[in-house]
Amino acid sequence: MKYYIGIDLGGTNIAGGLVDENGKILKKLSVPTEVERGENAIIDNISDLCGKICDENNIKLSQVEKIGIGVPGTVDSENGMIMFACNLNFNKVSIKPIEEKCGVSVKILNDADAAAYGEYVASGSKADSFICITLGTGIGSGIIINGKIYNGFNGAGGEIGHTTLIKDGVQCSCGRKGCWEKYASATALVAQTKAAIKNNPESIMSKETVINGQTAFRAADKGDETALKVVEKYIEYVAEGLVNVINIFQPKKVVIGGGISREGEPFISRVREFVYKYDYNKYLDKTEITAAELFNDAGIVGAALY
Ligand SMILES: [Zn+2]
Repeated sequence: MKYYIGIDLGGTNIAGGLVDENGKILKKLSVPTEVERGENAIIDNISDLCGKICDENNIKLSQVEKIGIGVPGTVDSENGMIMFACNLNFNKVSIKPIEEKCGVSVKILNDADAAAYGEYVASGSKADSFICITLGTGIGSGIIINGKIYNGFNGAGGEIGHTTLIKDGVQCSCGRKGCWEKYASATALVAQTKAAIKNNPESIMSKETVINGQTAFRAADKGDETALKVVEKYIEYVAEGLVNVINIFQPKKVVIGGGISREGEPFISRVREFVYKYDYNKYLDKTEITAAELFNDAGIVGAALY
C-alpha cells in the first residue's frame, strides 16, 4: 500500500488527510489556519499536521510517498512557491520548510484544481476531457485534459467563473462587470434570494431569519411563487454559463460541486435539460453532467494524488 498526504489549505482551516493510492481517505484531521500569526506559523502548522496524521495511523512520515497541498491562490508549482493568496496574506511563500521538516517531497497546486482532480479520480472516469465547476463563495473551476490539469502557460488559466455572462452586469472583484460567478455562485444565489424577499414580502421566505443557498430551494419545494422564480432564474444562470463552457471544450464529463450541488439530481437534471437544449452540438454525443461525489474531501484527495 502506498500512502499520500493531501492538504486543503483554506482561509479558516487547514484540513489534511492520509490517502491511499486508490484515493481512499484513511484519516482526516484539521486545525485552524492562524492567519494572524503569519506565514511561518501556517507553514509550521502544516508540517505538524502531517506528523499528527501519520502518528494517528501508526505510520512514519518516511512511509509517505508525497505530500500535496491545495492552495487558495496562484502557485509556482515547479519552484515550490505560493506566489499569492489574498485570504492568507501570502506573497511568495516557499514550501521548502515543510519538505525539510517532514523529509517528504511536497507539491503545491491551486485548490480548485486539486478539487477538480479529486472529483476526476472519484468519478473513476478515464475521461480524456473533464471539467469540475464548484458553485461556492465564487465559482471555482478545474480543467483536466488527458489526466493533466490545464491552467495555461503561466498557471493562471482556467478561471471560468470570471467569464462575462451579462455585459455591464454586477461588479466583480476582478475588475470586470457581469462575471458568471456574480450570477451563479452560492453567494449570488443568496443575494438573489434576499432581493426577491424584499420585493415580495408575501413570500414564505420573508419569515426566515437566516438566508442561505438552500432557502429558495426549500421554499420552492413548498410551491412558493417567489422562490420558484428565484430557483428558475438561478438554474438558467448556472446553465447559460455551462453552455459556454461546453461550446468551447465539449468535454466528456462535467461535474458540478459546491454546496448547491447537494440539491442533487432534481437540480442537476434541470441544468442538464437547459444545457442540452442550447448546446451548439445537436447531433454528436453529449457531455455527461453530474453532481460532485466528494464535496469537501475533493481537495484533500486531489492534492494527495495529483
Ligand atoms: Zn470577475
